[in-house]
Amino acid sequence: MKDRMRQRVLIANRGEIAVRAIRSCRSLGLESIAVYSTADQSAPHAWLADQAFCIGPPPSRQSYLSMDALLHVARESKCQLVYPGYGFLAENAEFAERCSKEGLIFVGPSPENIQEMGDKACARVAAKKFGVPIVPGSPGTFTDAVEALAAADDIGFPLLLKASAGGGGRGMRVVEDRSQFSMLFNQASQEAREAFGNPAVYLERYFPAVRHIEVQIFGDAHGTVRHLGERDCTTQRRHQKLVEESPSPVLTDKERAGVLEAAVKLAAGVKYQGAGTVEFIFDEGSREFFFIEMNTRIQVEHPVTEMCIGHDLIIEQLRVAMGEGLSIPKESDWPGGHAIEFRINAEDPVHDFRPSPGRVHHWRPPQGAGIRVDSFVYKGIDIQPFYDSMIAKLIVHGADRESALERARSALDAFEIDGPATSRSFHRALIDDPDFVASKIHTRWVENTFLQRFTDEGR
Ligand code: ADP
Ligand code: ADP
Ligand code: MG
Repeated sequence: MKDRMRQRVLIANRGEIAVRAIRSCRSLGLESIAVYSTADQSAPHAWLADQAFCIGPPPSRQSYLSMDALLHVARESKCQLVYPGYGFLAENAEFAERCSKEGLIFVGPSPENIQEMGDKACARVAAKKFGVPIVPGSPGTFTDAVEALAAADDIGFPLLLKASAGGGGRGMRVVEDRSQFSMLFNQASQEAREAFGNPAVYLERYFPAVRHIEVQIFGDAHGTVRHLGERDCTTQRRHQKLVEESPSPVLTDKERAGVLEAAVKLAAGVKYQGAGTVEFIFDEGSREFFFIEMNTRIQVEHPVTEMCIGHDLIIEQLRVAMGEGLSIPKESDWPGGHAIEFRINAEDPVHDFRPSPGRVHHWRPPQGAGIRVDSFVYKGIDIQPFYDSMIAKLIVHGADRESALERARSALDAFEIDGPATSRSFHRALIDDPDFVASKIHTRWVENTFLQRFTDEGR
């Protein structure tokens, strides 16, 4: 405890995760140093931290993604640790490497872990090696459409093109039949080159109606790896998560044990350190699950797990980074129950989720037992168009799914937001939908079925 005192942490992020990380630093007795772009001069992470420095103009490339600017602040303000959060440089092996070259502790896995698991094609190889089922697909990657087509014929259609360096749904294309293959391949590869500087694409069999189930894992420097339960993130639009919950409403105990064990096997196999998530798709028909990727960082939806296990995962990340052993409570001490997270995005759900930045004129988040809001918003803040549209996360917790949903109803009703259009109304309608209530959904259900119902209701 003593050597933790007065250690300084550079918070290399913005938004709710920066605010959240500053809070966790404080409760550990660590000082936090924030950075902000000129667009974020009035953002809470800048004034909540012990110190804050402007690192550049609004575009991320010149501010939150500028390794030089971040490392300069870390050096000048004598930080010992760098907290990356999610997005931005959180999964950038070069940044992790540069931090350690400067004698800074990067709060995350080793550069080798990030490299190996961040490259999705490499991660598939690792999963296979450790006996974790992977989606049937191409063993390697392609940059040439003609070569890829030969592999596509072996896999069959429909199939999914995925950028090996991809994330956030970019560089992904569903190919329904052979005639579209070359065009979509070139699009995916081009998009991957632009977004990630790497055009390599691989092929997977496409499952039109699966669930997304993922496992939170944690490893420490002493070789211990544990799972912290699973999350079901099947409610998606365009392969992006909108709602996440734990436990999954559809797994049997035996299936759950299988998924958790597979995730731990992979993480232990690669000697993983820190917080990570192993993602799977789950076919409810055949009851099979397949590894899709590993995220080598804390995830947006980590609070769902926190509510169910009764432990702060950001604090755990910081402790593990400082060399401490895992301090996650044992499973029999977890509060359990059911938690659901709703991403509140500044997007207009009735107009194709178009971004809706601007001034927040009124802001009253819900309160009460089993209700948690993680946000950076206050009345009068200007939501910036330069960054991710997520402005808050509403997390509800109850003894079971039914009571969690009941809490979500009152919390979403009580949530008052004036100014930008948000996804609040989408979520409110969603949780009354009989298919959602019964969890008879798959990852395309929102687009294929629910959005029609939602717009028909004229919201
Ligand atoms: P999660 O699996 O944690 O929900 P997402 O894939 O939704 O993660 O991404 C987490 C956050 O990081 C989102 O806000 C997303 O916009 C952002 N993000 C994802 N990939 C990148 C990237 N390569 N560069 C910058 N931001 C990214
Ligand atoms: P990202 O890096 O963008 O998160 P993922 O590989 O995790 O990419 O895939 C994102 C989403 O796409 C998954 O949550 C799932 O809904 C869907 N998906 C991924 N792979 C497949 C597949 N082989 N078949 C069907 N859907 C898939
Ligand atoms: Mg993913």
